[in-house]
This record gives sequence, C-alpha cells and structure tokens, in this order.
Amino acid sequence: MIHLKKILCPVDFSECSCHALRYAIDLALKEHALLYLIHVIETHINDMGDIMKHIDLLLDNKQIDNLRTHLLHLVPDDVRPNIRTEPIVEKGIPFVEIVKAAKDRQVDLIVMGTHGRTGLEHILIGSVAERVIQKAPCPVLSIRLPKHVFSMP
Ligand code: AMP
Repeated sequence: MIHLKKILCPVDFSECSCHALRYAIDLALKEHALLYLIHVIETHINDMGDIMKHIDLLLDNKQIDNLRTHLLHLVPDDVRPNIRTEPIVEKGIPFVEIVKAAKDRQVDLIVMGTHGRTGLEHILIGSVAERVIQKAPCPVLSIRLPKHVFSMP
C-alpha cells in the first residue's frame, strides 16, 4: 500500500503554486504526512560561470527567516495546528534545489504548480516543473490552475 509520509511542495508565491499547495495540504492531512514547503531564491550564473555573490549580500538571515514565516503562513490558520509543516529556504537554481531537497529528505511525493510567476499560457508546462518531473526521485503531482487553458500553438 502506498503511504505518503513526506510531501514536498515547491512554492514561488505564484497563484498556481499556491493553488497546488491546497492539494498538498489536503493530501498531508489525509495521510498524516510531514509537509515541507520549499522556496528557492534564484541565483544566476554569469558569463564567467560563477554564481553571482550579490544575492548573498542582499539577503541576510532576517530576510530568510521572514521567507520561512511567509511560507508557514500560507497554511490556513485553522489547519496549521493539525499538520506538521517545515519551511525550507534555499538559494540556487530552483529545479536543482527542489530535487536535492526531495532526495535529501527522502520525500514520497512532490506537489507543485504546472506554471509559475511567468504564467505563460502558450506553454504546456513551465521549465521548473518540467525539469523537476524529469529529475525527481519520487512521483510528481503537477497542478494546473482551473482557469489556465493550454492553447494549441
Ligand atoms: P515554472 O516552471 O517556473 O513555470 O513554475 C512551475 C512551478 O514550479 C511553480 O508553480 C512552483 O510550484 C515551482 N517553482 C518555480 N520556481 C520556484 C522557486 N523559485 N521556488 C520554489 N518553487 C518554484
């Protein structure tokens, strides 16, 4: 029998990822699973191939703590006491950090949006979602916004 003990929900604070979070919360409640919420602060690779360091300077520990709190507050007040939730904030390339978090924590399922902040309607699935589906060590449930209709090119 499949038992979901740990669920990972990547959140970029877009409408679609917050919609996916509702599914993740519901599944976590039904399965009594630990729910990890991850947000990745995107870093960029410059022409020299070095990870730009300025992000580190801009984001101090206080801001990272604020992001963790923000993640936790996405879970509705009335549900929060009934669910074990752990916020994760990482810096890096979103799909890499999401897959790494799933591996390190041996999660049973990833629940994420099909689209993110760009919300491009002509694409079937966003690049972060596509890469996570390809590389994840576990099943991935990708959730589309009901209003988001894919129009054939
Ligand atoms: P995208 O592939 O960028 O259109 O986003 C698809 C989904 O990937 C979003 O709905 C989120 O679930 C997840 N995602 C995208 N970017 C991030 C990020 N920086 N941190 C956490 N999750 C993300």
